[in-house]
Amino acid sequence: MGQMAHAAAQTAPVALGVYKPRRPQASPLFRLVQDHLSRLQTVYDERFAREYGPWRPVVDEVADKFLACGILEHGFARIRCDACAHEYLLAFSCKCRYFCPSCHAKRLAIWAQWLDTTLLAPVPHRQVVLAIPKRLRAYCLYRRRLLGDIARVAARTLTAAIRTLTGERDLAVGIVACLQTHGSRANWHPYLHLLVTDGGFRPDGTFVSWPIHDTVRLTEAFRRAVLRLFVRLELFDEDQATGMLTWPHSGFHVHTAVWVPDDDRVFATRLARYCARNPVALERLTYDRAAAAVTYRSDKSEGPTAGTETVEALEFLARVLVHIPDKGQVTTRYYGWYANRPRGMRRQAEPAGADAPVPLVTTPRLAPTEATRRWAALLRQIFEVDPLVCPTCHGTMRMVAFITQASVIDQILTHLRTRAAAWAAGTAAARPGARSPPSTGASVARSTQRRPSQHASYHASATTREPLAVSRALAFLNIAPPSPAHESGSRGVPARPASSHRQATTTRRGADRTTRDAGRK
Ligand SMILES: [Zn+2]
Ligand SMILES: [Zn+2]
Repeated sequence: MGQMAHAAAQTAPVALGVYKPRRPQASPLFRLVQDHLSRLQTVYDERFAREYGPWRPVVDEVADKFLACGILEHGFARIRCDACAHEYLLAFSCKCRYFCPSCHAKRLAIWAQWLDTTLLAPVPHRQVVLAIPKRLRAYCLYRRRLLGDIARVAARTLTAAIRTLTGERDLAVGIVACLQTHGSRANWHPYLHLLVTDGGFRPDGTFVSWPIHDTVRLTEAFRRAVLRLFVRLELFDEDQATGMLTWPHSGFHVHTAVWVPDDDRVFATRLARYCARNPVALERLTYDRAAAAVTYRSDKSEGPTAGTETVEALEFLARVLVHIPDKGQVTTRYYGWYANRPRGMRRQAEPAGADAPVPLVTTPRLAPTEATRRWAALLRQIFEVDPLVCPTCHGTMRMVAFITQASVIDQILTHLRTRAAAWAAGTAAARPGARSPPSTGASVARSTQRRPSQHASYHASATTREPLAVSRALAFLNIAPPSPAHESGSRGVPARPASSHRQATTTRRGADRTTRDAGRK
C-alpha cells in the first residue's frame, strides 16, 4: 500500500495494538472461578457431590483453559501485514463449550451460520421443547448420555406423530436436537430444545406439512416412550413406570407454539442459538467478591423461577460447573432428514453443485458469493471489524507465528509494554527498527512447522486479497494453542501447565504452577 500509510505505521502507536483486547479478567465469571475453584475442590465431595454428582476431571481441565482464555500471558498468535509491517497479537482462546461465554458464543455463531447455509431445508420449522419430570432429571446427572437417549426417543416420537397425522408412512422429518442441562437460574434442569421441520419429506423430496400440533397427545406419547426407555435401561422397574403413568401431573411438558416461516432464516438461526445457548449468561451475573456471593437474574420474567437470587459463591460455582459436558459428549444431534447419512446420500444422488429444490416451496438457495458475504458479516459481528484487514493500510494481514513458550511470551510482551510506555511518554523509542517485537529465532514456534495441516490453506490464501472464505473464518475463529502432542515434541517448550492459572492469572504462567494440586487429593 501507499507510502503515506507506511509512514503512518511508523509514527502511530497503533502499530503496537493488541487486537480487540476483551479483558477476560474483568468478567465476573472469571473472577468467580479464580477466587473459589480451589476452595470448591476441597469441599466439593462433602457439600455438593450429593446434589451435583461426583467431581469430574473435565471440570479441572475446562476451568484451567478458561482462566487462560484471551490472556496474552498464556500465548498468542502474531498477525502481521506484509505491506506495512503493522502487527498485533491475538491471544489464544480456550474453545470450551457450555462454559466460556466468549468461546461458546463464537461456536454458536459459526454453527448458526452452518445451519443457515448448509443444513436447514427451505421449509417452515417449529421449535419443540420437551421437559422431563424432576424425578428423572437426577438420572441424567449420573448418566450423562441418558439425555442423548431421551433425544433419540423424542425424535422417534415426533416422527411417528407426524407420519401418523399425515397418513404418510415414509415421511422423513428433519430434527436438530439441542441437549440442554440448565434452567433459568443456571440450575440443573436437563431438557430438549428441538428445531423440527414443520412436516416431513417424501422419498422424492416433496414436503408435506405437519397438519395439527396436538401437544396433549404428544406429551402423553413422549411420556410413555421415555418411561419405557427407563425400564429398558433398568433405571425403573415396571411397577415404578406404571406408577408414574398414573400421576395426574406427569411432569412431562411439550411446547410446540413457536413456528418459523420458511423464509425467515434470521429468526430460525436466532432461535437455534437460543436453543443451544451457554448455561450462564454474564449479563445476568453479579459477583460480589467481598461478600463471596453471586446474584443471578432469571431469564424468566414471571413464574416461580423469575426474579433474582443471591447465593454463596461456592454454591453458584458448583452449579455452573455441572453443565460442562463430558469429553466427547455430543450435545447437538441430528435426526431423520437432517441426520448425517441421509444428507450424505442426498448429496451423492444430486448432480455436482446442485441443491435439490423442494417441491411446493421455492426459497432460492444461497449462491456461493452470498455465502461468502454472510461469513464475512459473521466475522465482523464477532470481531466488529475484519481481523485480517490491516487497520493502517487496509492490506491483508496473515498469521505469522504461534507463540507458546513462556520466555518468548515474556520477551515480546515486555518489549511491547516498554514501547507503549515510551510512546505515552513521548520519547524517541519509536525508531522504525523497533517497530516489531524482537526476533526470537528458533524459539518462536513457526505456525507452518507446528500446525502444518490445519493452516496450510490459510497460509496459502493469506497473501491474496480474496474475500473471507469459510475455511479462513474457521481457522481464525478456532485459534487455540497447539496441542500438547505437538508441544511435547519440541524440547524446551513446556506444555501448558495443567494447574497454573488459578490464583494469579495476570502473572506469568509457571510462576504459580504448583499451587493447585493441593486442592484435591
Ligand atoms: Zn474461552
Ligand atoms: Zn498494513
